[in-house]
Amino acid sequence: MAALKLTCLDCGQVNRVPGEKIADSPKCGTCGATLIDGKPHEVDLATLEKAARTDDLPLVVDFWAPWCGPCRMMAPHFAQAAGQLRGRARLVKLNTEANPQAGGKYGIRGIPMLAAFKGGRETARQAGAMPAPQIVDWVNRAV
Ligand code: ZN
Repeated sequence: MAALKLTCLDCGQVNRVPGEKIADSPKCGTCGATLIDGKPHEVDLATLEKAARTDDLPLVVDFWAPWCGPCRMMAPHFAQAAGQLRGRARLVKLNTEANPQAGGKYGIRGIPMLAAFKGGRETARQAGAMPAPQIVDWVNRAV
């Protein structure tokens, strides 16, 4: 199986992970962070852009902000979906308050908003909070 390119969500280093290792919690060669742990990682805009452009494993982003009630309500559902989708897609969160340039860059009109990236491009987006099973369904269709 070919190696998959995966951006470390902690340090931004691009790793090459043999396909058969995807299930064994591969670690970043630079900082040692686990690359696939089934948990939603908080990323900044630079890491998001790099991962969206580079990664061979689909990436799903939850654009959120601390002041957004529906975003906070969806957080545990998003975390649950991340666990269920482990190995199929990586789920990350981007705080739009801490990264104000993200709104213009991705044309975000409202949050929460989910966007799915595969093969270097956005394949789907969905506005509004969703429960965990619906997030899993949506990701499975999107990537
Ligand atoms: Zn790293």
